[in-house]
Amino acid sequence: MVRPVRRVVIVGGGTAGWLTAGVIAAKHRSRMPAGFSVTLVESPNVPIIGVGEGTWPTLRSTLARIGVSETELFRECDAAFKQGARFARWTTGADDDSYYHPLMLPQGFMQLNLVPHWLAEGGDRSFCDAVCPQGRICDDGLAPKTIATAEFDAVANYAYHLNAGKFAPFLQRHCCAKLGVRHVLADVRRVNQSEDGDIRSLETEQAGEIEGDLFIDCTGFKSLLIGETLGVKFKECSDVLFCDTALAVQVPYESDASPISCHTTSTAQSAGWIWDIGLPTRRGLGYVFSRRHISDDEAERELRRYMGSAGQDLPIRKIGIRSGHRETFWKRNCVAVGLSAGFLEPLESSAIVLIEMSAKLIAEQMPVCREVMDVIGARFNATTHYRWGRIIDFLKLHYVLSKREDTAFWRDNRLPETVPERLQDLLLLWKHQAPWFHDEFDRIEEVFPAASYQYVLYGMGFRTEVEPDALSSDASLAERAMRENAMQTERLRAGLPRHRDLIRSIHERGLQAV
Ligand SMILES: Cc1cc2nc3c(=O)[nH]c(=O)nc-3n(C[C@H](O)[C@H](O)[C@H](O)COP(=O)(O)OP(=O)(O)OC[C@H]3O[C@@H](n4cnc5c(N)ncnc54)[C@H](O)[C@@H]3O)c2cc1C
Repeated sequence: MVRPVRRVVIVGGGTAGWLTAGVIAAKHRSRMPAGFSVTLVESPNVPIIGVGEGTWPTLRSTLARIGVSETELFRECDAAFKQGARFARWTTGADDDSYYHPLMLPQGFMQLNLVPHWLAEGGDRSFCDAVCPQGRICDDGLAPKTIATAEFDAVANYAYHLNAGKFAPFLQRHCCAKLGVRHVLADVRRVNQSEDGDIRSLETEQAGEIEGDLFIDCTGFKSLLIGETLGVKFKECSDVLFCDTALAVQVPYESDASPISCHTTSTAQSAGWIWDIGLPTRRGLGYVFSRRHISDDEAERELRRYMGSAGQDLPIRKIGIRSGHRETFWKRNCVAVGLSAGFLEPLESSAIVLIEMSAKLIAEQMPVCREVMDVIGARFNATTHYRWGRIIDFLKLHYVLSKREDTAFWRDNRLPETVPERLQDLLLLWKHQAPWFHDEFDRIEEVFPAASYQYVLYGMGFRTEVEPDALSSDASLAERAMRENAMQTERLRAGLPRHRDLIRSIHERGLQAV
């Protein structure tokens, strides 16, 4: 007898729980009359983590897919546009040391690799400005679209900055009202297993026993199902990524008219870095640092120095980070998504994008019966392992390329034994050929595409030796692409509204619904 999988039970109502519920319910809505159900159980007593304000452009298609209105997102989640990240003081630590990792691809990226041509110019202008308009758009404080651009469409590629405390309740309202998700407010006190080891049901304090066929662990750092119940071990990554603590603070603007930054700013400090994210009503800041290299008190002094006089009395929240991930993510009839699966550090906003990708994979591969679940679980594990590995490489790249000598934190980060082997190999390869889309990054839905590596490598002064004859074949194409980029840059700078002005218009008039 086949055992059908119809009852999906998600435990945890943070960003991971609600995004996963929405993606699965939207995909399988037509099966609900025949008994398919999505239930989300959330503790009324354990708060969500409430941080995680930087996202990736994938969130636009995820939200569109589950039927959310972008206008409502802006109105209800205090959302702003994000067009990339500006990294300050990462390379040398000097005042003028900064570069952008924008979200637009380099001009003509799928046809030609502009890196060798930019290198041949002598590197007088930044790589980002030579190949893409977005750094200049960010410098000017402009939005990535106009009020006439439809919801989720972009003139310049974008993601969001949003209030994490408002985002999960926003998704909850949508999932329950529009997608048929059942919401149970209850504390899970016990997890019951069958003889074969599968999870059979949850015993809750307020809602009795809840049975299910597939359980999704979105319980955050607690990792109640995959860790505590099924005993899947945690794989530490602190030997590669050293940051283990964050100090977070919310800073008010001077006035309601203060400009809103349309990119994350990440400023390197003595033992980590500070994120600075602009929402319409406040900025969200946080110092992510390594306690092996600085004390909490000294880190707080650095953070307050960064904030200047505006931030001296503001309350600071301390959050511990255990850098790493579960050894496996899908075990028996349980799969972990979000912080329960792992967390590295907030650099490059890689956590929510991984939640989206995991949710999509579960929804698309949803096992019809228990008999096929282990095959699908093994596939999910292989893909998810690959993704964690690539994210670790990409985050570490930022530290390895630094030339800072001023503190042990930066020097230790370059010790060869802390650099993953695959990244060492790639860095060797890239001395002789620039990364490009077909080169190593061949997976569909790569978290960080080759373009991201180009922006970080050449933004941080990495140099690839280019053979002169490698340039001749497409020199005129490259010249045209760079000229087109310069024209597009001026067109966009002249035509895009100021960031705060567009957000105000969205609040007042709304974007065109799709
Ligand atoms: C300092 C910091 C900064 C970050 N910045 C970013 C960023 O900029 N971009 C990004 O992409 N990500 C970021 N992240 C990660 C991001 O915050 C998370 O990936 C995201 O919020 C998802 O969290 P979650 O839903 O997994 O867990 P949580 O928000 O912790 O939710 C856990 C849920 O489980 C429930 N729960 C727990 N125990 C029980 C129980 N016994 N019974 C019932 N329910 C239970 C709780 O009630 C809660 O609803 C950051 C993380 C940290 C620590």
